[in-house]
Amino acid sequence: MNAKVLLFFSILLFSFQLDAQLLPCGTPQMVKVMEQYEPDYQDAVNRAFETARQQYKNGFVSTRSDQKVQVVFHVVYNTPQQNIPDQVIFDQLARLNEDFNYNPANDFVTRPIYKDLGDNANIEFVLAQFDPNGNPTTGINRIQTDVPSFMQIDFGTLLQAIFDCGIDITADTLSQEQLDCLTDALGGSGLTAGLDDIKSFDKGGVDAWDPTRYINIWIGNYGIELVPGESEPFLLGFAYPPADAPNWPAGTLPPNLEEVEGVVLHYQAVGPNNPTAGSLIGSNDQGRTLSHEMGHYFGLRHAWGDGPCDEDDGIDDTPPMASSISDQLGQNFDPTTFTCDDLGLLNSCTSDQLPDMYENYMNYTPESCQSIFTKEQVGLMNAMLQGPRAGLLDIFLNNTEVDDLQLSFYPNPSNGAVEIHSNFPGDVITQVFDLNGKMVHSSTERTLDLSALATGLYVLKINQNGRVVFEKLTLHQE
Ligand SMILES: [Zn+2]
Repeated sequence: MNAKVLLFFSILLFSFQLDAQLLPCGTPQMVKVMEQYEPDYQDAVNRAFETARQQYKNGFVSTRSDQKVQVVFHVVYNTPQQNIPDQVIFDQLARLNEDFNYNPANDFVTRPIYKDLGDNANIEFVLAQFDPNGNPTTGINRIQTDVPSFMQIDFGTLLQAIFDCGIDITADTLSQEQLDCLTDALGGSGLTAGLDDIKSFDKGGVDAWDPTRYINIWIGNYGIELVPGESEPFLLGFAYPPADAPNWPAGTLPPNLEEVEGVVLHYQAVGPNNPTAGSLIGSNDQGRTLSHEMGHYFGLRHAWGDGPCDEDDGIDDTPPMASSISDQLGQNFDPTTFTCDDLGLLNSCTSDQLPDMYENYMNYTPESCQSIFTKEQVGLMNAMLQGPRAGLLDIFLNNTEVDDLQLSFYPNPSNGAVEIHSNFPGDVITQVFDLNGKMVHSSTERTLDLSALATGLYVLKINQNGRVVFEKLTLHQE
């Protein structure tokens, strides 16, 4: 990442820090950062959004009743406290499924004026049962890291530099003079964005599992120490939206995106009933950071459009809003005395007669007052799931189909070229073992090249959608 982006990004974060003390979501900022790696990225995100939106407008409805997708939680912890228990993750998953399977009968939060807009996204999230190599997994992948926090910005240094260089942190851009001044003041090392480091084994994290087949959810520490030894949550989460570009081969992602696609959560913001929630209690303690980030993952933007009244989120059934609910509450918010009714009078854009939709998961609202995705948001997410995110659906066939699933290969004996056959689409994982039980080849291709293996007898393990067959294979190398 170049210095300019780094500084720009840090200043954006810093501006949030001043008025909110907390950045609930870093998605818009990360999209800006990704744009620096992939110059076509923002356009590709906009194209995907526009396509899905048009599909909704043209009457798209999901054709599947069983929209199941698999998730893997990578828990990347430095201290035992950050290694949150399985039960918190189970509760988190249950909350996510509640929010994506809306039932108006259970909604006691949404005001009558908006109740009819709440809709069921009909997406079921399940823990992965097999890892990318076809081995059984619980869907919870734990790894200890040397990295104390993936939020590595030194705010003291940054604050001093901003002051010394006369920078207006509400401005969108820096002059060259200010940039040079900042670069000098920070010595090029005072800031390390590094927010995606959690997705790289080499940087203390865990590499993504194939992001076209799994929703990767990384959990780690995104707190900062303003006082040494006292860590406070700073960034609660972020996600990358679907991107669709004609110059990328079908079904693939650009290399940089393939490594980072998915959702990131600060460990204290995971799940209801999190014993480490700490200062997030009363505001961000209901497991809805993930519902919000999953909304981004399926293409939704912030409900207030990340700008004043005339900046829209591209969704017609969310009313215009000038800023998020939490920005409007500012310092007046006291989680101990607060009720959802207190938000009822907020109407930041008076051009319409509609109050601000605090109920929306894509707003920043105390999580106990969040209750809906709207019809159009749901329509857009479903279009994304059957479009750029369709790889997630391919791996799940319904039960009737599984009974008919047939896996085989030919020829046998073979001289090294082996064709895997399945009567259903989607990924098939094939592993080849020698007679000592050692895996000598692994592939998700339908055509295997085993010409590098010696003549002899092998065992093939073929796996699709949890259905596994073992077959003997004789290789005759010429
Ligand atoms: Zn967000």
